[in-house]
Amino acid sequence: MSIQNRLTVLGSTGSIGTSTLDLVRRHPDRFSVYALTANMNVDLMFRQCREFEPELAVVGTESGALQLRKLLQEHDLSTEVFHGKDALVEAASAAEANIVVAAIVGAAGLLPALAAIECGKTVLLANKEALVCSGQLFMSAVDKAGTTLLPVDSEHNAIFQSLQGQDKKGVRRFLLTASGGPFLRTPRQLLSEVTPEQACKHPNWDMGAKISVDSATMMNKGLEIIEARWLFDCPAEKIEVVVHPESIVHSMVEYCDGSTLAQMGNPDMRVPLAHVLGWPERIESGVPALDFGTLAGLHFEEPDLERFPCLELSMQAAKAGADYPVFLNAANEVSVQAFLQGDIAYTDIFRVNAAVMEKAVGREPSSIEDVLEQDIVARQIAHEQVEKLS
Ligand code: NAD
Ligand code: MG
Repeated sequence: MSIQNRLTVLGSTGSIGTSTLDLVRRHPDRFSVYALTANMNVDLMFRQCREFEPELAVVGTESGALQLRKLLQEHDLSTEVFHGKDALVEAASAAEANIVVAAIVGAAGLLPALAAIECGKTVLLANKEALVCSGQLFMSAVDKAGTTLLPVDSEHNAIFQSLQGQDKKGVRRFLLTASGGPFLRTPRQLLSEVTPEQACKHPNWDMGAKISVDSATMMNKGLEIIEARWLFDCPAEKIEVVVHPESIVHSMVEYCDGSTLAQMGNPDMRVPLAHVLGWPERIESGVPALDFGTLAGLHFEEPDLERFPCLELSMQAAKAGADYPVFLNAANEVSVQAFLQGDIAYTDIFRVNAAVMEKAVGREPSSIEDVLEQDIVARQIAHEQVEKLS
């Protein structure tokens, strides 16, 4: 390795962000950090600045920036601190970094991820909501800039790996695996009573709160269908969901000759992160490989769309395209937040999402500004729905 890779980690204090920095810590000769960004967690951002000494740190608010600057000064650290949305975009575009890890949660990550693409960075994409909202525009920006976009999401990373060296014309189906989350076997009449704490307790993965709830409702898998549709340039009809409670097979590609290629590994996001950080080389992730002698078994079943109505809703959005995914994603961000705050019941997440998606009109957004406007409209409708229910 002759060239040092300089990283900007968008969303460094989150679950994906901290896993990324764990890999940087393991490979100091390979990676250094140019910029870190976070929303509210100033304490963790300060500890990350102390350890990784980035040139730049961005936080969400002015008061957070003041607090962080003070802490850095007290420790004689020279990281420059900025705040707000424009600073995020500047950090993502700065010439000093060649790799940008897009690990902000939600549509808030769209503009910085897009800026990184337009500036020709290698983008390691975890922020699926960005692609869900603006798939067409996002992928044409990738083409135009000639950027390398590598999927971090474990399913998409598995598919990416299973496509290497293969004839793409021979692909019959993409099979996205889904754990089924914490409520796979919970009696359906009890679902209206489940708490945010129960919904966030994923059986296999340790993730941020929003994606944990999305995994419980299987909205996450729905968003991933839309994500796969754009990443692999295929119609939504070619993407199927298979429930696989052990989360060992991370997804599969079925070919026309009857071969199915899969990628397997322990459920730890450092595996796909190490894959994209090292790509096209392989680097150590710190995650042990599978021990087939002790694996109890691998199980697969069809998803129950009555138990997981959000999955069916998102399948419809994936097929309809246009503004449907933007509306669904915005609704889901609002409804999940309302559920996490205790304002609505778990089963209301679907109610809000369905009511908002009904308001989409089937108009393809013509620009990113258009996507952001549709997002605002959908959020307003979602807030009204939440009010009605709370
Ligand atoms: P998280 O909630 O743990 O972290 C989110 C990060 O984004 C934090 O650093 C937070 O400060 C920052 N952030 C949140 N809102 C922001 C805003 N408005 N402006 C700027 N920064 C903001 O989330 P996560 O679990 O790490 O997930 C991040 C993304 O990766 C999501 O899109 C998720 O779907 C995707 N993803 C996560 C996992 C996982 O295992 N956690 C797996 C696959 C994909
Ligand atoms: Mg995933």
